[in-house]
Amino acid sequence: MNKLEIDWTRCDGHGLCAGLVPDDILLDEWGFPVLRGREITAGELSDARRAVLACPALALRLNNR
Ligand code: SF4
Repeated sequence: MNKLEIDWTRCDGHGLCAGLVPDDILLDEWGFPVLRGREITAGELSDARRAVLACPALALRLNNR
């Protein structure tokens, strides 16, 4: 099951990720990401991987546990 995870020791609240995968990540009022916690479907994997690569703080990860 593929899911996005955030390393809170790294996230700086750039908010880039929410723009790339809006169905999976919202932003809170301070611009920090809120994961919806849903499974990333096969059709969404490429967008999720793009968001992981775009995170300037290397805080976003894709796990398949
Ligand atoms: S792009 Fe990275 S640093 Fe920015 S809010 Fe998303 S997870 Fe945090």
